[in-house]
Amino acid sequence: VPIVGDPERMYKVVLAGDAAVGKSSFIMRLCKGKFVPNLNSTLGVDFQTKTLNVDGKLIALQLWDTAGQERFRSIAKSYFRRADGVLLLYDCTYERSFINVRDWMESIQESSDKVLPMMMCANKTDLREDVGEDGKKCISFEDGQKLARECGSLFIETSAKEGDHITEAVTELARLLMTNE
Ligand code: GDP
Repeated sequence: VPIVGDPERMYKVVLAGDAAVGKSSFIMRLCKGKFVPNLNSTLGVDFQTKTLNVDGKLIALQLWDTAGQERFRSIAKSYFRRADGVLLLYDCTYERSFINVRDWMESIQESSDKVLPMMMCANKTDLREDVGEDGKKCISFEDGQKLARECGSLFIETSAKEGDHITEAVTELARLLMTNE
């Protein structure tokens, strides 16, 4: 479907999740259509814009990256303020990032006075079969979905590297944002 004309609506979507789960790569894949293996932690600007056709309506999403703040466990409270929705990522091959999802939920809830529509993304699915053999625990689809449900979040598995389900993830979130109005 062609993307022509002015968007009917613009939403601010912030990315959350531990360092190195693939937030910058996710935005790069969505907005630039490519995967850059050694992306620096920021794209040099606060946000990127992506226009989507959601059920025949043009919707613009402003995607905000953390600018690497999460490395210092010091996400500014203001980061989530005025956000319309959240993309919360973890790395499905790295359990710690999955466990930390609950802390992220807490930070988000503390910083926003409304319940923010959320899409939880289990990223790096392309790596899933590589790991496992060396004994590391990968997070299953079922475990991810269960946690997402507990958090009141949508859930999807993605690969920023392969481009799997990246557009679907943001389209589903945009659909929820639109129906919430
Ligand atoms: P951020 O700190 O959350 O922004 O994570 P980055 O986007 O900087 O990614 C951290 C590392 O994981 C980089 O080496 C990326 O190339 C890599 N990475 C990100 N997404 C994927 C993915 O879907 N698959 C694989 N195999 N690697 C990924």
